[in-house]
Amino acid sequence: MKKKIIELAKANGTDSVGFAPSTRFSEDDPIFKIMPETKTVIGLGFRILRGIYRGIEEGSTYYQYTTMAVENMEETVMPMAQLKISMMLEENGFIALPQRRHQQIMAETDSTNPEVAYDAVYRGKTAETQIDFEHTAVKCGLGELGLHGALLNDDFGPMIRYCFILTDAEIAATEEYTPHLCDKCGKCISACPGGAIDENGKVDPWQCAVYYNGANGTRNPFMPPDAFSDMDNRLEIIAGEAKVTPDTAKKILDKIYFYPPAQHAYQCSICGRACDVECYVHLEEKGVLKKKYKTPFRKREKWSFDLDSFK
Ligand code: SF4
Ligand code: SF4
Repeated sequence: MKKKIIELAKANGTDSVGFAPSTRFSEDDPIFKIMPETKTVIGLGFRILRGIYRGIEEGSTYYQYTTMAVENMEETVMPMAQLKISMMLEENGFIALPQRRHQQIMAETDSTNPEVAYDAVYRGKTAETQIDFEHTAVKCGLGELGLHGALLNDDFGPMIRYCFILTDAEIAATEEYTPHLCDKCGKCISACPGGAIDENGKVDPWQCAVYYNGANGTRNPFMPPDAFSDMDNRLEIIAGEAKVTPDTAKKILDKIYFYPPAQHAYQCSICGRACDVECYVHLEEKGVLKKKYKTPFRKREKWSFDLDSFK
């Protein structure tokens, strides 16, 4: 069964497959509320195309990240693999319950998801039955957690997305990572164009949402010189130095769409996940990633616009 699952997963675009026995989870873990019969959690990891990040790295194309690295992965590629594996499990008499991130549902009551419009998020609705995606991925052996909370995989570093299938089939476990990739260099923190990650690696979701969407004008080719003209601290915002609250974040986000709006509530990333990219460049330079490419990801010095052009 394990071999069949791995083959089917690979044939449907999965790059990394891992199996966590239910004994790795505490009794009050949401997986047991969702499906008490769970015996194994199957983790499926999918690479995000490295080339897609290069568009934002070069400042040449932005929307491909949102469509091809977020929306199509979450809505098409990943569910297709989940469904095919789940159907095969059910064909063999087991129960299979796919678990994908619902990008618009959050367990927290005061948080947001930078990848979707803040007013399209449903908060505090399913707190008891939302699995912890990052920690479940670690338990499945898909990777380790980096300082800023991203999953780091041996092949693709942080350039990976993931989802799960709960099943009552008992399948031999994958070993969990012994952390070896993140060296606490702090480059993910300093790379954020909006200071959204504190010194301990904690990401402020509202600060992230504002700068993920492009509030830093020195890194946003679409921002007009008079952006945020009715806001007193506009230069602070544009410099990436404004500290936001949920309320001020919403005000900034309401005025931030200098780029064509995204479809289906997915917002265009203007920061290009700079935290993950910097981490990737660091891991690649150290030579610790197993997947090798013919040329390095970073080809030239990082570009930026002069803050004076917004004065
Ligand atoms: S950039 Fe450095 S500190 Fe941050 S997650 Fe990567 S390796 Fe860890
Ligand atoms: S670099 Fe982008 S995705 Fe990462 S924390 Fe900052 S704003 Fe968020």
